[in-house]
Amino acid sequence: MSILYTVTNRVANITIFLKETLIGFYYLCARLDKSLFIMTTFRHRALSLASSHQAGRFFLEEGPVSKYFGQNVLDLEKMRGYISQVAYEAVISSLRYGAKLDRSVADEIASGMKEWALENGATHYTHLFHPLTDSTAEKHEAFISFKDGKAFEKFDGSTLVQQEPDASSFPNGGLRNTFEARGYSAWDPSSPVFLLDGTLCIPSVFVSYTGEALDTKVPHLKSLRALSEAAVSVAGLFDDNVNSVRVNLGIEQEYFLVDEALYNARPDLMLCGRTVIGHTSAKDQQLEDHYFGAIPSRVSSFMKDFESEAYKLGILLQTRHNEVAPNQFECAPVFCDAVKAIDQNMMLMILMQKVAEKHHLKVIFHEKPFDGVNGSGKHCNWSLMTDTGVNLLSPGKTPTKNLSFLSFYASVVRAVYRHHYLMMAAVSTLSNSFRLGGGEAPPAVMSLFSGSTLFEVFRTIINMDEMKETAAREQESIKIVNSIPEIFPDNTDRNRTSPFAFTGNRFEFRAVGASQNVASAVYVLNCAVAESLFEFKRRVDELEASGEDRSVAVMNVVRAFVTESKDIMFEGNGYSIEWYQEADRRGLRAVRDVPEAYEVYHDQMTVDLFGNLEVLAPNEVAARFEILNETFVKKLQIEARVLGDMCLNHVIPAAVRYQNVLIDNVKGMKEILGNDYLDLCASEINTLKEISSYINDASSYVEELVETRKKANRIENIADRAKVYSHEVRTIMDKVRLCADKLEMLIDDEMWPLPKYRELLFF
Ligand code: ADP
Ligand code: MG
Repeated sequence: MSILYTVTNRVANITIFLKETLIGFYYLCARLDKSLFIMTTFRHRALSLASSHQAGRFFLEEGPVSKYFGQNVLDLEKMRGYISQVAYEAVISSLRYGAKLDRSVADEIASGMKEWALENGATHYTHLFHPLTDSTAEKHEAFISFKDGKAFEKFDGSTLVQQEPDASSFPNGGLRNTFEARGYSAWDPSSPVFLLDGTLCIPSVFVSYTGEALDTKVPHLKSLRALSEAAVSVAGLFDDNVNSVRVNLGIEQEYFLVDEALYNARPDLMLCGRTVIGHTSAKDQQLEDHYFGAIPSRVSSFMKDFESEAYKLGILLQTRHNEVAPNQFECAPVFCDAVKAIDQNMMLMILMQKVAEKHHLKVIFHEKPFDGVNGSGKHCNWSLMTDTGVNLLSPGKTPTKNLSFLSFYASVVRAVYRHHYLMMAAVSTLSNSFRLGGGEAPPAVMSLFSGSTLFEVFRTIINMDEMKETAAREQESIKIVNSIPEIFPDNTDRNRTSPFAFTGNRFEFRAVGASQNVASAVYVLNCAVAESLFEFKRRVDELEASGEDRSVAVMNVVRAFVTESKDIMFEGNGYSIEWYQEADRRGLRAVRDVPEAYEVYHDQMTVDLFGNLEVLAPNEVAARFEILNETFVKKLQIEARVLGDMCLNHVIPAAVRYQNVLIDNVKGMKEILGNDYLDLCASEINTLKEISSYINDASSYVEELVETRKKANRIENIADRAKVYSHEVRTIMDKVRLCADKLEMLIDDEMWPLPKYRELLFF
């Protein structure tokens, strides 16, 4: 970083500090002067602070990105320079074939990692894992150690490979009791270690003492193994050279930015990540002027800063743009191997929060932080790639390639059809439930969009069933296989209302929420597809055994798959009410209630899916069911408490203050005008009555909210408790909110204590 730049930044920081101190001093004086009292709300102070926050860069790297790209990651290539050839080969074989690393190799790798980390200024190390909280967990340990009065840096193989965090303090769904709380985090060598904030971060998995998965990564890794095996068996029908198949993921991350001072003045944003009250702004996204608009300079400085930090971590961020809602943005890296993509996405979320602090910004990943404007998703672009470099979801130039493409495509169609409700349950969280089906996000019922070209291909294939003549059918099959174009003309004209859409060479799972760790949605998809691919191979084998020619057998199974699963295919407008009715007719189950959707984890079909593929054992599925319900209840409980608190301690006191102003005014008018005051003060008196009625309603609803929570909390069974929270607590919360939002419109703006939507949503 150049000296000039550092000096400029320092000066900017000092200016901001002086400004903030002056503003603070002014408000202190104002507090002492009763006439200015109404100007002293936290909101006004926050607004002044917010307007003093300016664009600035804090992490400036010189030279082209390629010069520092990946500098904070110890990839295999770099690792080579720190360990012997024997140890390097052991790592490679562990990655390729899952071979166990012996103690001496682990020690050597640990020592290499330590050397690299110390050279780059690290003082600590941590296992970094993904517990069932949708966030990451880390416990930093110092390298420094003492022996014989001497300090030295220590890090050996056993510390690299395994650590022992307390499993009972993480969601475990009853798998661990506190008295036997041991859990293990274990190094996952498939993801490289990296440096963040002077700490060597070691990507890890997290399991209980008895080996059950307590994170999202273990089932994800297992699902990838199952899917690879299944995909290799089907790919082998067309090409003998395929040995493994990997999932590629491109994760688009949507987010909101809010000024830090305004955020701090909103207890709901701070504690729930979303606003639980707030009247819509007169202008928000109606004019469609934000999407792809010019990026505000404060935001673009922030983006450049987090991008340069992400580049150092080897995250290949490629796109950035304004999203539909005001103050909503998106970034996306170039797709890569699924494990790396998810690790990087989790890292990116941490990084964005850290960098935002410097810019006096807060990043909001909640799926629906503001009512009435678009929410945020995390589109997962998913495809299958062979070790020979072929994208199995890309139609090709040759008939064989197209036959293979159709096999994989049909297997995905069947997978999504069979497990459509489970896939929706996998993205159903409290926060995402405010977004899905909101008329701007994918609906809460699964469907698969193919685009007109491919849809037509499948329609013809399905109709071929009616052709009795095998020869004619074969002819038609060949024609179809030959006619699939490599590039679909409707790629650009995409249907954005579908939760799961084909986009030319990949599927885009759009229903996933912005705050989620996408692994929990992706491993469900991986498992569903693996199951169908195994079934595909089984049926082709059966037909071949009965004497069918391979390509005819393949085409027959493709036809059978799409025919039995055609109800999942939908090309129309997913936002329309008619689609829900049509989906219902087709027997597609919509998620109408989150805890109800979780019941799918009890379905035999779900338990078998995970069990047969050895991804999750029945007790692990049951634990996840518990955790999902528990998380739902706890989050809703926090929201309900925050809402009650804001209503009683912020909204109602402000309303009462304004009532008193009106009362004084009416009294004064009466004194001066005598009986005429009734006519002349009609509007004030009406407002007074309205305010009183909303205050009464709000406080009695808050009381009802507390009582309903108490009733729900007495329910022992967590799934039943979650349902009462979902049905009853949520309904009352809506009523409380309505009163608060009405009061916001009635009360003097100067007296309103909380930053308003129009202030939160525009820089
Ligand atoms: P859009 O918003 O138009 O869908 P973006 O450019 O924001 O597109 O994001 C598309 C994402 O899809 C990127 O992360 C990109 O790398 C990824 N992607 C492209 N091709 C593939 C593929 N074959 N497999 C997986 N992801 C892909
Ligand atoms: Mg995008």
